[in-house]
Amino acid sequence: MNKTDCIFCKILAGEIPSTQVYRDEQVTAFRDIHPAAPTHVLIIPNRHISSVNDVTEADEGLMGHLFTAAKQIAKAEGIAESGYRLIINTGPDGGQEVFHLHLHLLGGQRMRHPMG
Ligand code: AMP
Repeated sequence: MNKTDCIFCKILAGEIPSTQVYRDEQVTAFRDIHPAAPTHVLIIPNRHISSVNDVTEADEGLMGHLFTAAKQIAKAEGIAESGYRLIINTGPDGGQEVFHLHLHLLGGQRMRHPMG
């Protein structure tokens, strides 16, 4: 998928509506349309990167910034202390459906351990 077909690039451009909760020069966060937890926010780089497979050394600052934004959003959502889960799905076996790298921020309920 290229940038022009990318649903998250369209959200960034305001061509598809979203409930935005955070934006700065590098990243944007909006609520997942099918929430899997009481708080479910997607945090994405403003520049199209398809997946973790396309991250380069030049993106290391941006990747770190996704996490500092996640921390701020968790605090604003009131789940910093109760806890939350951060997930990046990559590729078909990783369950990635939208090929614009995104960090899922999930919280507001106790989640089972992903490793069983
Ligand atoms: P992933 O499976 O990791 O690629 O996650 C893609 C996520 O994007 C899913 O949780 C979807 O519910 C979510 N999603 C898809 N389309 C939209 C949209 N238009 N607005 C908000 N979230 C969306």
